[in-house]
Formats: sequence, C-alpha cells, structure tokens
Amino acid sequence: MGIPGSGKGTQAERLIAKTGYQHISTGNLLRALDVDPQVDPKYRPLLDIMRSGNLVPDELIYELVFDKIKHTLETGNGVVLDGAVRTVAQAKAYQLFFEKLHMANEVMVVEIRLADEKSFERLVIRKTYDAQGNQVLRKDDDPEIIRKRIASQGNMLIQPILEYYKTLGVVVSVDGDQSMDDVEREIDTVLA
Ligand code: AMP
Repeated sequence: MGIPGSGKGTQAERLIAKTGYQHISTGNLLRALDVDPQVDPKYRPLLDIMRSGNLVPDELIYELVFDKIKHTLETGNGVVLDGAVRTVAQAKAYQLFFEKLHMANEVMVVEIRLADEKSFERLVIRKTYDAQGNQVLRKDDDPEIIRKRIASQGNMLIQPILEYYKTLGVVVSVDGDQSMDDVEREIDTVLA
C-alpha cells in the first residue's frame, strides 16, 4: 500500500521477480479495460471515474480481482496486490474473502510511506513505459488530475485503512522517500 507515486508498482514488480508470485495491479487492470475496444459499455462510466482521478466503485474492484486471486492461490502460487486496497470497505471485503479461503493468516501488508507533496513532485515528472519499453502517457498523470488523486487517495485517506490493518497486526512499513533500490532493500529486510 502507498499513495500514488509512492513506488508501489515498481516495488511490486521487483517483488514478483524474486518470488514468482502473480502481480495483480488494479490500476493496470482498469487501464487495460479502458483501452479495450471490445469492453462492455457498462464499464465506460466507471472507467471515466478513473480517468478523472477518483476511485472507482468497490464492486468493480471485486469483480476484477477476486476470481483472479482465488484462481492463482488455488494453483499454489502467491499474489502481490498492488493498489488493490484503497478503502476500508475494500480492506474488510478482502479480509472476508481471504478468511473464506482460509488464507487470512497469510496476508501481509507493506506500507510504503511518502508525504503528499513528494507524491505530487514525483507524478508531475513521471514517465511510464509499456512492456516493449515505449513511453506511454498516463492520462491521469496530468497536474490537475494528480491533485485530485492525492485528494482522493493521499495520506489522509489511506490512514484509516492502515489503522484497520494495524489492528490485525499485519502491517510492515518502509520509507518510500529514498532510491528505488533502497526501498527494495528495506522491503526485503522487513519481509525477512
Ligand atoms: P494506480 O495505477 O494504482 O495509480 O491506479 C490508477 C487509478 O485506478 C486510480 O487513480 C483509481 O482511479 C483506480 N483504482 C485503482 N485501484 C483501485 C481500487 N482498489 N479502488 C478504487 N479505484 C482504484
């Protein structure tokens, strides 16, 4: 978990490279739907919410990820959830979901801490690349939308979710305001 720009996507990629776990990024899944010409028109208004920098409804997230997670766990592999929990209601729904799968004791939350101002500074200059190494413009990496994303997904908003996970005793926390390699090293240490 972390606010936009905290480096959770990068660190999730690094973690899957080491563990072989399945990477499940709700942002990536939503962007894939957004560019899919065959997408069911019922998703269009929901994807417009994403483009505007706000959170999409919880139900859409569950629809996108629960089957995927269940399927992966059933094959015996693990998952790295990236940006997949953005509200307390979602955190509770995931918890229930993992309890039903008898996997609740296996959940660990890594918090990547970063101040809101740092998030803005990073996102305005962020460059994103696709799998082929071509630069792609994320439509929501626009200064006005970045401000909205921080307003709807910044530290004030993620604190209650982290509090919930702290009551479950499953949170480890690392400093996101350092180089990607140093964040990675800290994550390795806390997970070990
Ligand atoms: P990300 O790539 O993780 O920054 O996500 C991009 C956008 O997708 C966010 O700004 C939200 O609009 C939407 N999104 C991603 N994950 C979630 C989630 N778990 N709940 C609600 N909206 C989400």
